[in-house]
Amino acid sequence: MNYFRVKEDNSSIYTGRIEGRHKWGLPGIRNCPACKASWGTDTRAYPSVDLSPVAALADFEEPRAEPIEEYERLCELVRTLLPPGARLQPGATLGPLVGRAQGRFGPLVAPSSWALLVQREALEKLQAEGLLGLKGCGTQLRFRQRNAPELLELELLPVGQLHPECLPPNRKPPCSRCGRRGLTRPDDMLLDASTLPGHLDAFRLEDFSTVIVCTERFVEACRRLGLDGVVFQPLPIA
Ligand SMILES: [Zn+2]
Repeated sequence: MNYFRVKEDNSSIYTGRIEGRHKWGLPGIRNCPACKASWGTDTRAYPSVDLSPVAALADFEEPRAEPIEEYERLCELVRTLLPPGARLQPGATLGPLVGRAQGRFGPLVAPSSWALLVQREALEKLQAEGLLGLKGCGTQLRFRQRNAPELLELELLPVGQLHPECLPPNRKPPCSRCGRRGLTRPDDMLLDASTLPGHLDAFRLEDFSTVIVCTERFVEACRRLGLDGVVFQPLPIA
């Protein structure tokens, strides 16, 4: 099986723009006691999660940095609400994408390199093709225009890693407390075949969560069905 990176299409005929963020999120962390880093990133999102049952127990709305103990307490509060296969990290976002949208959207929409939205009709066609693990989650986007499309966000689980061969040989293991890797994504990515999931046709990399990956099956289905709006860049495997 061949794999591809899914990216925004900068040469696209579609003019659609989205400004928004997910309804809830975990804070970043300040001064990890193990690695001393302060960090957080919103590149892992679980849009299917409804935090309403625990929303009153802590602040899940204000983006901020907290001591790691508070971050870990919040992780425990949300853990039972997560989809199977979810992995948290400081700054992870939860719940629907909320914001504004305007312009013309293609069947597939990548508002950033780490998010992938699909119009409902397109998602139903892809699911009918038998693609695996495509979960579309409702968004709360306010459109400026009439005849607004219904955009669903794909819930992309973090699985799969880059091959050690494309990473610096002197890298350290991830921080045992906060999980930080502190690596810059290499320009020439090589996927590690032994880490790739057999049950998902679209996912994000676990070690570089800005990278959305799909299978050749996914690309072929999009081509056959004429679903455009993003570009697919081949990723070598070792
Ligand atoms: Zn750490």
